[in-house]
Amino acid sequence: MTIKNKIAIITGASSGIGYVTAFTLSKAGAKVAIGARRTDRLKQLENEIKKCGGDVLSQKLDVTKKDECDTFVNQVIKKWGTIDILVNNAGIMPISLIENLKVNEWEHMVDVNFRGVLYCTAAVLPYLKEKKSGHIVNVSSTASKIVFPSGSIYCATKRAVTAFSEGLRQELGPGLNIRVTCIMPGTTETDLLNSITDESLKKMVGESIKNTQSLKPKDIADAILFA
Ligand code: NDP
Repeated sequence: MTIKNKIAIITGASSGIGYVTAFTLSKAGAKVAIGARRTDRLKQLENEIKKCGGDVLSQKLDVTKKDECDTFVNQVIKKWGTIDILVNNAGIMPISLIENLKVNEWEHMVDVNFRGVLYCTAAVLPYLKEKKSGHIVNVSSTASKIVFPSGSIYCATKRAVTAFSEGLRQELGPGLNIRVTCIMPGTTETDLLNSITDESLKKMVGESIKNTQSLKPKDIADAILFA
């Protein structure tokens, strides 16, 4: 099995795990479509990939908008005619205590971390079904298993991703030959904490992470490549 010349879509490719995953899959021979909101960062990644001889399509993508997910996938079909792999990676983690009622942030987390996974999956599924092959990789988290104070909504979104992945695997594997992998990284050194708006909590989490041995984005990218 090789991913040489496979067409891979990676959401949230402008930083952290998504950025390194796109680069890693490209180095392994895949053609990669990279999406996120920060187009300057996407451009940088696009240039890096091209410099290494890779084939890449980059496009602004907000996964909370169904039409943007559909357009992104349509662009991929237009350029390469098919899709083999979707990495649902885009995510945010503006954690806060429930009693502070940061309801807008709860909604945003649900929209990006879960609704975005649904929209992108729905956008690629007809193509994978038609060719009876493909692979959907969902980036969940150990937080889907271990709930912590201030993290309940984030953990809930990741538990939803894990449950959805399991349902997808059960429905799409037999008969349709579509593989589904749910990756659950532990703490990984990325910009993820930047979305926390409670400054004292952000500092506290940052300090506690400093005292633990974190994974690097490349560790997760290699796990995705292995899958
Ligand atoms: P980063 O903050 O570095 O990356 C998050 C990515 O998601 C960025 O590229 C960001 O791009 C993108 N993103 C955010 N909102 C949207 C949106 N509305 N539409 C499209 N893209 C969006 O963090 P990580 O690399 O750590 O996060 C990647 C995934 O890994 C997330 O799902 C996260 O939950 C998960 N994870 C991370 C862990 C960690 O410890 N770091 C542990 C376990 C799981 P942009 O802002 O340009 O849109």
